[in-house]
Amino acid sequence: MSQINNSKKVAIIGGGISGISAAMELIDKDINIDIYEARNSIGGRVAGIKDKLTGDEIDNGKHLMVGAYSNFFDLLQKLGTFKHLYFQKYFNVNFISESGEFNFSNGRFGKLSQLISLMNFPGISLRDKRNSIKFINQVNRGLDATPSESAKDILNNFQISNKISEILWEPLILATMNTTPREASGKIFLNILKLAFFHSNYSGRLVFSNLQLNKLLIPFLTIFPNEHRRIFLQKSIESVNKIDDDNFIIKIKNGEEYNYNAVIFTLTPFALKKIKTNFQMPDFESFESSPIVSIYLWSEEDFLKNDFYALIGAKFQWIFKETYNSLRYALTHSAADEFAMLSKSEIIELAYQDLEKLFSKFNRNLIYQAQLIIEKKATIKLTTQTEPLRPAQKISKGIYLAGDWTSTGLPATMESAALSGKHAVGNLITDLSL
Ligand SMILES: Cc1cc2nc3c(=O)[nH]c(=O)nc-3n(C[C@H](O)[C@H](O)[C@H](O)COP(=O)(O)OP(=O)(O)OC[C@H]3O[C@@H](n4cnc5c(N)ncnc54)[C@H](O)[C@@H]3O)c2cc1C
Repeated sequence: MSQINNSKKVAIIGGGISGISAAMELIDKDINIDIYEARNSIGGRVAGIKDKLTGDEIDNGKHLMVGAYSNFFDLLQKLGTFKHLYFQKYFNVNFISESGEFNFSNGRFGKLSQLISLMNFPGISLRDKRNSIKFINQVNRGLDATPSESAKDILNNFQISNKISEILWEPLILATMNTTPREASGKIFLNILKLAFFHSNYSGRLVFSNLQLNKLLIPFLTIFPNEHRRIFLQKSIESVNKIDDDNFIIKIKNGEEYNYNAVIFTLTPFALKKIKTNFQMPDFESFESSPIVSIYLWSEEDFLKNDFYALIGAKFQWIFKETYNSLRYALTHSAADEFAMLSKSEIIELAYQDLEKLFSKFNRNLIYQAQLIIEKKATIKLTTQTEPLRPAQKISKGIYLAGDWTSTGLPATMESAALSGKHAVGNLITDLSL
């Protein structure tokens, strides 16, 4: 075993994006690092699923990225997989409803594009368009919200009608916050608009992966480990006990116990609740989960003109075409509480009805495989109540927290997860004088 100058030992609990981000931030430090992951693979919620009939590997639900994901992209650069992403030239989304298709773009003509897009929206009154332009202008000038204002309150303040909300703002809020506009934190909604969609052409454009998302993270399994850095899969942590600020005992479910100088928890609040500790943890009870339902459909023929659409007046909110390995479509429904009581066949039937209503070329008889994925705890609900409760990445000296749901000012996304890992490690480096 080669000598390292510093004999400090750090444990990272959880091998999702936030755990991997934390680990990669520490990779240059002369310390021992162990990662404990409960499942038999890394990636957490960015898991891969093998479809039995087609043999295709699909994502655990389609994930959207935007150009503003600088921390997540930084992580992929370190893992050497950034090259598998492709970027839109500028934010450009086609919306489809029963009355036709329309486009919202944010770049072809610079900032003017937003206004041109709005002006071209069908079936929207001039008053509505004027109010939306006023709203966009105020966002561009740094509009802020109070903690108690929801996304819907903000839209109401600008007298944005339900009609334009349903067409434009709701799909955006649901896709980024997985929370209904009525409940969603207005502060985070405005942050999303400021940091991503209205910041620059680069930040707002949508980003897609040529590979299944999980594969973007897999190089971590070879880049990270050496004699001082270990990844343990299928090791679920049961308890963490503090002896003093510099000494913690971690107990694995199989009974093994190990000592560390610091611990970084990178779990969801729902998983954290199950870990026993002898020190005060943040209040996890207030966090509620929000489900996402995804359906993958394999079709013999292509029925989509564009690569993806926002679906208006439909049960599902988005459809994406995927062409790697085979032709298939991913439909998503965020904040999917209303699907909780439905059976698999009822949910698939709803998807078929949406597609029949919106795409004349869709033919359900040409669908030869359907895969339904219900993620009950896809993300936290990011409401006006929970946003102020999101904890910082340091609990006390030696105990750190990361995860998409922690306080990052961002919605609970892959970018928030990557950023939280960096923040947790920033605190740890200062405390341990690394
Ligand atoms: C269907 C779906 C769609 C989504 N869409 C988007 C999107 O469009 N855009 C976007 O940016 N984000 C999206 N997300 C959210 C994104 O996946 C998450 O923000 C991100 O993956 C969270 O990473 P994390 O590391 O914080 O948490 P996790 O990925 O949950 O990682 C936590 C890890 O800890 C492990 N663990 C749990 N308990 C223990 C224990 N006791 N001991 C050891 N290990 C343990 C878990 O197995 C897991 O691997 C979506 C999520 C889902 C489910």
